[in-house]
Amino acid sequence: MKVDCPKCNELIEELDLWEGTQEKSWFKLDEDGNVESGFVEQIFDDQIDFECPICGATLFHVEEEAANFLRGIRSRRPRQ
Ligand SMILES: [Zn+2]
Repeated sequence: MKVDCPKCNELIEELDLWEGTQEKSWFKLDEDGNVESGFVEQIFDDQIDFECPICGATLFHVEEEAANFLRGIRSRRPRQ
């Protein structure tokens, strides 16, 4: 089933899901003054964004809310 995006009103049947990871690197200059950098570790970000694939608006941060939206269940969040 398709539901309409509250931002752009386009009918959509899926959302773009962004799950963040961040990479930590070191960054310094070598003896010649050239930039060097190197990977240290990868950190998983707790932030999850569900975006409209048409307009790119971030609609939800919680999986259950995003699923209910696609099921056609309106959230209590007022329309803008
Ligand atoms: Zn949209």
